[in-house]
Amino acid sequence: MKLLEDRIRKDGIVKEGNVLKVDSFLNHQMDVTLFHEMGLEWKRLFSDKPINKILTIEASGIGIACVAAECFNVPVVFAKKAASINLDGEMFTSKVESFTKKKVFDIIVSKKFLSPDDHILIIDDFLANGCAVMGLIDLINESGATLEGVGIAIEKGFQQGGRIIRDRGIQLESLAIIESMDASTGEIIFR
Ligand code: 5GP
Repeated sequence: MKLLEDRIRKDGIVKEGNVLKVDSFLNHQMDVTLFHEMGLEWKRLFSDKPINKILTIEASGIGIACVAAECFNVPVVFAKKAASINLDGEMFTSKVESFTKKKVFDIIVSKKFLSPDDHILIIDDFLANGCAVMGLIDLINESGATLEGVGIAIEKGFQQGGRIIRDRGIQLESLAIIESMDASTGEIIFR
């Protein structure tokens, strides 16, 4: 999506350790007009899918997912990150290793909000090694809901997440795919 690629070129900052900072428009200060265009693009790309719910993960996926949900006219559920969980049987749970914080979190969704009747689109801001998305897929599988696809704002194509998800036959639509980026020059090359 050219609009997003242009914005990443203009305002994205490449950090050491394969981290792209986009906090001026995506995940700290948020450009909701851009989010709306992204939501419309996912709506077009997944137009043949009977999506009735969007699933994301806190915190940085929530803003994008909410605006996308308005384009789909469906509710959003976000998986909560919990340092330790009380397994009382009321929650679907999985584990996610955070790419940016290098910590393992339990993630939880109440059993009230995912059911076998649901057709889910996962939305997140970044795809790196795929841990966050795989954790969300675990929750969907536990619930018996159907995964219809995954919508990502920025995929780092040089990390393994995209391949893992596509190899499973899942429709993955990343609006910008970075082929390579260089922290010393700041150069970003898109696929
Ligand atoms: P994964 O689980 O695919 O390894 O990483 C995805 C998660 O890590 C996303 O939810 C995102 O919050 C965070 N993340 C991964 N790479 C980056 C990055 O380059 N920049 C930022 N800001 N967040 C990232």
